[in-house]
Amino acid sequence: MADIATPTRTKDIIRKHGFTFKKSLGQNFLIDKNILDKIVEAAGLSASKGALEIGPGVGALTERLAQEAGRVAAIEIDNRLIPILKDVLAPYDNVAVVHADVLKTDLRLLWQERFAGTDGVSVVANLPYYVTTPIIMRLLEEHLPLENIVVMVQKEVAERMAAKPGGKDYGTLSIAVQYYCEPELVCIVPSGAFMPAPNVDSAVIKLARRPAPAVSVTDEERYFRVVHAAFAQRRKTLNNNLAAFVGKERKGELGAVLEGCGIDPARRGETLSLQEFALLAEGLAKAEL
Ligand code: SAM
Repeated sequence: MADIATPTRTKDIIRKHGFTFKKSLGQNFLIDKNILDKIVEAAGLSASKGALEIGPGVGALTERLAQEAGRVAAIEIDNRLIPILKDVLAPYDNVAVVHADVLKTDLRLLWQERFAGTDGVSVVANLPYYVTTPIIMRLLEEHLPLENIVVMVQKEVAERMAAKPGGKDYGTLSIAVQYYCEPELVCIVPSGAFMPAPNVDSAVIKLARRPAPAVSVTDEERYFRVVHAAFAQRRKTLNNNLAAFVGKERKGELGAVLEGCGIDPARRGETLSLQEFALLAEGLAKAEL
C-alpha cells in the first residue's frame, strides 16, 4: 500500500472515515514523503531504539517510525483519530497508540511501560503549534531519559530555540533549550507540505540532549528564575529588571554583584550568554539576593 504521507492516500483515509480537521488542535497533516525522510534520518533510529510520537494524526509519521524503530508509542488527544490509527497501523505490531493529552500524561510511567530495555529513545513529532512550547518545556524539565527530540515547529519557534545571544530571537526559550540540548536546524518546510496548509512556514529542529547541562549551577530552579527576571521586560536593562527581582531597596547590593561578575548593569538580558547567567545566578545566591 502507498505511504500515508501522500496527498492521495491521506485524502482517501480522511474520506473513508469521514474525518474533518480541527484547527483548534493544530491538525495539519504531513503529505510530503521527503520531509518525513529528513525527520526520521535526523532522529537516528534503529531496531533497538524507541520513539515517542506526540500527535500522530492519521499516522503519516507513525508509519515511518514503526518501520525504523523497535518500539513506538504515539499519544493522540483527538478520540476521532484513534480508530483511524488502529486501522492504518494494523500491519505494525510495535506501535502503541495512547489516547491522551500529552500535557496530562505520566511520561515517566509511559517510559517504563514502553521503552524499558531499549537502547535510547527519541521524541519525534510534527507538533501541534498551539502547545509547542509547553510540550518542549515539559520534555526537558522532567529529565526524561531521552536521546534527542526531532520536531516540526513553526519556523520562528525553531529560530528562537537555536538563537545565540545578541539578537531579537534570543530569550528564555533559547536558554532553556540550550541548557539541556544542542539545537540543530534540520530543514525549513513550506506550508504546501501539509494538508491543510498552515498560514506559516515550518522548520524541523533536532535537539540533541547533552550528557550534562551546558553550564553547571548549584540550583537549577533559581538559575531559570534569574533568567526569567532578566527578560521580564525586554527593553529594560539588567539593572532595572533585576532590581524588580531582588527588591528596589537592595539595588546597591545588586550593583556590587553585577560588578563582581564583570557584567555591565546597562546591558540587556538578551546579550548574556548561558555562562554569564550562571555566574550571575551564583553571585546573587551568594549575596542572598
Ligand atoms: N503527526 C501527524 C502528521 O505529521 O501528519 C499529525 C500532526 S498535527 C500537526 C498535530 C497532531 O497533534 C494532531 O493529530 C492533533 O490532534 C494532535 N494533538 C493536538 N494537541 C495534542 C495534545 N495536547 N496531546 C496529544 N496530541 C495532540
